[in-house]
Amino acid sequence: MEWQRELHEECGVFGVYNQQSAAHLTYLGLHALQHRGQEGAGIAAADENGVTRCRKGKGLLTEVFSHNDIAELPGLNAIGHVRYGTAGGGELENVQPIVARAKIGTLAVAHNGQIVNADELRQELEDRGSIFHGSSDSEIILHLIQCEKGSLLEKIKKACLRLDGAFAFLIMTEKNLYAIRDRNGLRPLSLAKKGDGWYLSSETCAFDIVNADFVRDVAPGEIIKISAQGLETDFYTNITQKKLCAMEYVYFARPDSVMHGYNVHTVRRRCGKLLAQEDKGVLEADIVVGVPDSSLSAASGYSEEMGLPYEMGLIKNRYVGRTFIQPTQAQRDAGVKMKLSANRDVVAGKRIVLIDDSIVRGTTSKRIVTLLREAGAAEVHVRIASPQLLYPCFYGVDMSTRKELISANQTVEQVRDMIGADSLRFLEMDALREACGGQDVCEACFTGHYATPLYSHVID
Ligand code: AMP
Ligand code: SF4
Repeated sequence: MEWQRELHEECGVFGVYNQQSAAHLTYLGLHALQHRGQEGAGIAAADENGVTRCRKGKGLLTEVFSHNDIAELPGLNAIGHVRYGTAGGGELENVQPIVARAKIGTLAVAHNGQIVNADELRQELEDRGSIFHGSSDSEIILHLIQCEKGSLLEKIKKACLRLDGAFAFLIMTEKNLYAIRDRNGLRPLSLAKKGDGWYLSSETCAFDIVNADFVRDVAPGEIIKISAQGLETDFYTNITQKKLCAMEYVYFARPDSVMHGYNVHTVRRRCGKLLAQEDKGVLEADIVVGVPDSSLSAASGYSEEMGLPYEMGLIKNRYVGRTFIQPTQAQRDAGVKMKLSANRDVVAGKRIVLIDDSIVRGTTSKRIVTLLREAGAAEVHVRIASPQLLYPCFYGVDMSTRKELISANQTVEQVRDMIGADSLRFLEMDALREACGGQDVCEACFTGHYATPLYSHVID
């Protein structure tokens, strides 16, 4: 069978165990995770009899759910998902959670990440007679679990051993909740508590909205089972390492989230400061402008270190979604135009240091440099608070070929010329490591050192 491989699943997951109106709480949690995906959203809830109901759809959470929809998802346990879809993979059957009525009972799965050996596993499972509805990796996980023997925990452990790549997933059974994180900890997943209830989330920012207290990150390779007996922890492997995605700190995560003990805003500020240290005494400029919103933390660090005023030279229209999270290039181009305006009175005649968090295809930087020049900027010096993106990501982030990475194909000078900047500089890799607190992180898209085998994926 032909299938459209779903490559990119940089999404958000949220789970609630043993709380009144679990679906409503999940809705609130997902709302705080909406920046992680705007193509689809879903919630599955299990009532006290173990009856599992699920509602999901395409679009933003507020487009998918009305108040009544939530009321129709009763129960103390629930899991939810916000989805970053891509062209060809955005069909409704790929929107999560995926619910399976299996021999062992009903299972609902919500998954964030990308299984690098998904094609191989899918082929193997199809050869053994499995039928897939969509192209989501979650279905592979479900099929693998069903094929294994033993208790559900044993089945999950064995299934996880077959999976390579990046995954953080939640499985809700009729009575229990499981949370699993891949052996490299590539995708984030955290645990919180409130009274007798438990919460799991891709980012800690979602715990605040439900007044839950952060407990800890789920560890790489860990399987947490939450049941009437409380919380049990196990590992599907003891070969683990910490390789959290560095791009979470650079771009994806909300600034108020804490990952592996590091506040995202603080890491970004440090990136900005380290970037400025190279320019101190060398670059002459009047003001610092950050690209809203993801670059504001880095811009504030840069401005403080440089002793230059931070100004609101760019205004963001809040009612347009994240530019990058649009499946096609045409939509992305239109999105940038709708999204940002230059603040003419602030930028006219000024020598500007423009801070952005990253350059992927170059669309955003080029457009913004043009905007600033049209508004009368005298000079535009672009500083990027992360290193050059040179290699594709196979772990769930939408950068799957080198062709689309402008820095993989052009020198810094060529990129500068292309985006029309007076000067351009990127943060050094060592500086990014330092900003992340010196912890080991995944940096494959910057260095080409991947944490797993790549199977059929090629770096092209
Ligand atoms: P581009 O216009 O393609 O160069 O995209 C760069 C912009 O997209 C930056 O301003 C970032 O804020 C954002 N961005 C960077 N990396 C990613 C990514 N992997 N996924 C989504 N957005 C990103
Ligand atoms: Fe994150 Fe880059 Fe690693 Fe992908 S390759 S998981 S984007 S750090």
